[in-house]
Amino acid sequence: MERKKILLIEDEVKLARFVELDLRYEGYDVTVCHDGREGLQMITDHAFDMILLDLMLPGLTGIEICRRVRKFSDVPIIMLTAKDETMDKVAGLDSGADDYLTKPFAIEELLARMRVAFKHVHAGSTKKVHLEVQGLEIDTDKRMVTVDSTVVDLTKKEYELLLYLVQNKNIVLSREQILNEVWGYSYIGETNVVDVYIRYLRSKIDEAFQRKYIHTIRGVGYYVKDE
Ligand code: CA
Repeated sequence: MERKKILLIEDEVKLARFVELDLRYEGYDVTVCHDGREGLQMITDHAFDMILLDLMLPGLTGIEICRRVRKFSDVPIIMLTAKDETMDKVAGLDSGADDYLTKPFAIEELLARMRVAFKHVHAGSTKKVHLEVQGLEIDTDKRMVTVDSTVVDLTKKEYELLLYLVQNKNIVLSREQILNEVWGYSYIGETNVVDVYIRYLRSKIDEAFQRKYIHTIRGVGYYVKDE
């Protein structure tokens, strides 16, 4: 099997070196870059299987890089952040990152997150279906969502959350279930990330089209209703 190509964009030279050596030991092909602008250029010029992206970088921030990359690529991105405030993490995920990891982290934790992110890429590409709930349509082949034929612009995670809700329409899903399925594992004590994403979806779908697709069962969870 060909070695997976990883791009690590991290300006803390020691940390970058440490991660690079560990990933090489695990069999990954690792390229390291210490500057945001250079990193974005490398992603534009070369094909990588995954990007490990520091949040605070000289040149361009991790969030800005992520936003720009998402305009042309679905490559898995794991954000590395020194800050542990939830809102910073949510901003990172909203920019299109697949996951985030707070520094300092154990290398085993990073490896586990990488495996989850790779698995998700794989799972997404095999299922090609067309789903519909009262005017809301999801084309999983094009990863496109429309309401009454109008295209709705969603970030990667918003799309994955909506897809999960629609695939399980009329079933109430708990925050923990949603985290496990959409984010890949439990974010212990941080299930409010689900509430934040439900709010994003509601403003882009329910409010924008004056419908009510996403329903809340207080203290239980969420579901999409199809009558
Ligand atoms: Ca940094």
